[in-house]
Amino acid sequence: MKLWRAPFDQDPTAEPLGYVFIDKDRCKGCGYCVEYCPRDVLEMGTELSSKGYKLAKVKDGARCLACGFCELICPEFALKLTLNNKKPVNN
Ligand code: SF4
Ligand code: SF4
Repeated sequence: MKLWRAPFDQDPTAEPLGYVFIDKDRCKGCGYCVEYCPRDVLEMGTELSSKGYKLAKVKDGARCLACGFCELICPEFALKLTLNNKKPVNN
C-alpha cells in the first residue's frame, strides 16, 4: 500500500541542521545527552578522557535537529551546538 504522505523525518537530513561538539576535558561520561537526545545522534564511546571517564561521542550527526536539548541538559557544559554549519571558533 502506498501512503500519500510520509512523516517529516522519514528521510535522513541531507545537511545536518546543527553540529554537536563534545569537550573531552569536560565530559564526565554521565550519558544524559545520549539518553535524552530525541534523534539518537549521540552514543557512549570507548575512548577514555584524561580523567578516566568514558566519553560521549557523535554517532550519526546527520540526524541532528539542532534542538539544543543536549547542550541544555549536560551538567558539565561539555556540549557545544552550532547552527548553520558553522563550527565553533575554538574547535
Ligand atoms: S551529558 Fe555532558 S558530561 Fe554527560 S556524557 Fe553527555 S557530554 Fe558528557
Ligand atoms: S541538538 Fe538535539 S538532536 Fe542534536 S544531538 Fe543535541 S539533543 Fe540530539
